[in-house]
Amino acid sequence: MNYHQYYPVDIVNGPGTRCTLFVAGCIHECPGCYNKSTWRLNSGLPFTAEMEDRIIADLNDTRIKRQGLSLSGGDPLHPQNVPSILKLVQRVHAECRGKDIWVWTGYTLDELNSAQREVVELINVLVDGKFVQDLKDPALIWRGSSNQVVHRLR
Ligand code: SF4
Repeated sequence: MNYHQYYPVDIVNGPGTRCTLFVAGCIHECPGCYNKSTWRLNSGLPFTAEMEDRIIADLNDTRIKRQGLSLSGGDPLHPQNVPSILKLVQRVHAECRGKDIWVWTGYTLDELNSAQREVVELINVLVDGKFVQDLKDPALIWRGSSNQVVHRLR
């Protein structure tokens, strides 16, 4: 998996203070996409074991308390990203007690395959669906267009 940006302290992408990772790779090609540069899977930088360790350490940093981890992109549930994302969310579960995980994807919840669902089993919130320009509403929280749904899973 490749990634474009990592923000160790972020107050914009999800509730509270968070760590946020924007991954590379998206097949949805939504007109009006805010993040076109992330579409290619091989764009950005390799997501290394060191980056994974850094995210775990940042989530556990007691000097700046984080509520959790946000995963966006690109699409964290692009089939080629799923193995790396699954490993990351498994580690957050095992090593970062009490931290929530939010994931943004262009797939809808009912479109997900079994591998993608394994990730969803371990996260707290899934914001799903393509961005639809005609349904864009700046008043919406955590989503860009009204077709997208904030699924509070657990
Ligand atoms: S799903 Fe998100 S990143 Fe992918 S094309 Fe649509 S708006 Fe862009």
